Amino acid sequence: AGAVTADSVDSLTAHFPLCMRQLHGKLKEESHLKHFGRMQFGLFLKGIGLSLPEALLYWRKAFSRMTDDQFQKGYAYNIRHNYGMEGKRTDYTPYSCGKIITTNAPSSGDHHGCPFRHSGQDKLRAMLFHGGLKDSEVRDVADYAQKGHYQIACTKYLELQIQKRRGGGKPSVLAGSQANSGVVIESITHPNQYFDLSLGDGQ
Ligand code: SF4
Repeated sequence: AGAVTADSVDSLTAHFPLCMRQLHGKLKEESHLKHFGRMQFGLFLKGIGLSLPEALLYWRKAFSRMTDDQFQKGYAYNIRHNYGMEGKRTDYTPYSCGKIITTNAPSSGDHHGCPFRHSGQDKLRAMLFHGGLKDSEVRDVADYAQKGHYQIACTKYLELQIQKRRGGGKPSVLAGSQANSGVVIESITHPNQYFDLSLGDGQ
């Protein structure tokens, strides 16, 4: 895989966890994201290898309904800040699942957070279905979320995605516990771990 650029982000969304797919989709739809959404998604993109110059290009293009002046004044600073180029020059790291699940819960109009934790069951099931899961698979994954096992739900979702990509699930036991998908991966604790596992096809 080559370097991630502003133009290649869209081609990688199949490897984004549900939380980042949601943010990416809403960014496309609304040409904007609120603060915590920009933080969660922006740091994730940094984590997958989007450099600062490419991040500035990406967000400028995504925020298509504002002027260059508005973008430079209102947003460019924060993007540079996330890369440690402003303020205290802290090099911020992408948020873990634990942080996303337990802090800054989204309110209406927000799109950040973890869909397994913060989306209602109907919305979550629709997202899973849209992600290509069969009815029974949607039920299994959504049940984990309903019982409070958000990261297990996310792990199962990725296992199913990998299985589908491999063409129906030749059993391939890699590590961890038995899963009904036939594909078994380590538990998801970080959105960037999800991305790496998906890109590496679970290896
Ligand atoms: Fe994102 Fe983690 Fe939730 Fe998965 S469990 S959707 S990676 S926050």
